[in-house]
Amino acid sequence: MRVLGIETTCDETAAAVVSDRLGMDGGDILSNEVLSQIAQHAAYGGVVPEIAARAHIDVLDRLIARALANARVDLADIDAIAAAAGPGLIGGVLVGLTAAKGLALASGKPFIAVNHLEAHALTARLTDHLDFPYLALLVSGGHTQLVAVRGVGDYRRLGSTVDDAAGEAFDKVAKMLGLPYPGGPQIEKLAQEGDPHRFDLPRPMVGRGGADFSLSGLKTAVRLEVLKLGAPSEKDVKDLAASFQAAIVDIMIDRVRGGIKLFTEGEGRPSGLVIGGGVGANGPIRRALTRLCAESGLRFVSPPGNLCSDNGAIIAWAGLERLKRGFTDDLDFAPRPRWPLDATASGTHHGKA
Ligand code: ATP
Ligand code: MG
Ligand code: FE
Repeated sequence: MRVLGIETTCDETAAAVVSDRLGMDGGDILSNEVLSQIAQHAAYGGVVPEIAARAHIDVLDRLIARALANARVDLADIDAIAAAAGPGLIGGVLVGLTAAKGLALASGKPFIAVNHLEAHALTARLTDHLDFPYLALLVSGGHTQLVAVRGVGDYRRLGSTVDDAAGEAFDKVAKMLGLPYPGGPQIEKLAQEGDPHRFDLPRPMVGRGGADFSLSGLKTAVRLEVLKLGAPSEKDVKDLAASFQAAIVDIMIDRVRGGIKLFTEGEGRPSGLVIGGGVGANGPIRRALTRLCAESGLRFVSPPGNLCSDNGAIIAWAGLERLKRGFTDDLDFAPRPRWPLDATASGTHHGKA
């Protein structure tokens, strides 16, 4: 089976073709075209929705053509067309969803509406052999949550952020430190040369039960340190970056511990922990999670960085997982700018199986 996947929920325009492996686990990425709009948003220090939507329109049709060409297939060789229908910025979602529906209508192929978070949660099954149920940590610019992945379309949210998303915290702190957007990679780089113990920053929620996150207090604490310093030197910036990142790592580890506990109480033992979302590219976070999993006797599955951040292959793969189970959607499926993962039913969009 081959599925075309389209992603336009945020600031990446992406299209990809993914196929399954007959009788085997995992999938093959036949093409994965991603165009980041970072340069267009950089001047504003964050994603501007109207600019994002227009930029998707400008490039999406050519990107889809390129994804098909690079996969050496025609639309006729594709079994279904999947698009991320949310959660995300409504203007962008409309562009990708409408394009996918148009292709589905013209080709007579099934259309599949994919929850963007579901795509991150299922990516580990594209790259690795991983059975349900497992625990997923989704950390990006827009989302921070821990999810029990019980099956395709069957998710239970164990915890989520009550304020900022992890990537948002990285981006906002970077802005305070005078670093360009997106801030995550910048902070990670500078932190390598900084002293993580110089600033005593708070670790909100750490030690509490449950698996919720809170990151705005940490961000505010960094702001106060910056104000105290007045004009931070290069060394101050490196030390603040290192201290901030160390706090984030401690928070992540503590919250994932809470998630493992909740998971075990509700579903039994997870078959592993997977990470998804752009913040999943962060080295210190990955290493800390690797250690935690080793301690807990859990498998840690971390897809490569380019599949952690937004791309079309993860949408195509989620579409493929749905198609295999007969879960397709009607062409009047409305965009869902807000779409909690636990409201993603299995096939109730329009289930044939
Ligand atoms: P969505 O939330 O809908 O998935 P997004 O565009 O915010 O959309 P991604 O593209 O997955 O999500 O991730 C971008 C975020 O990841 C940014 O906030 C960025 O700062 C952060 N990020 C990227 N690399 C790193 C890194 N090495 N360390 C920490 N954060 C990072
Ligand atoms: Mg992005
Ligand atoms: Fe994402």
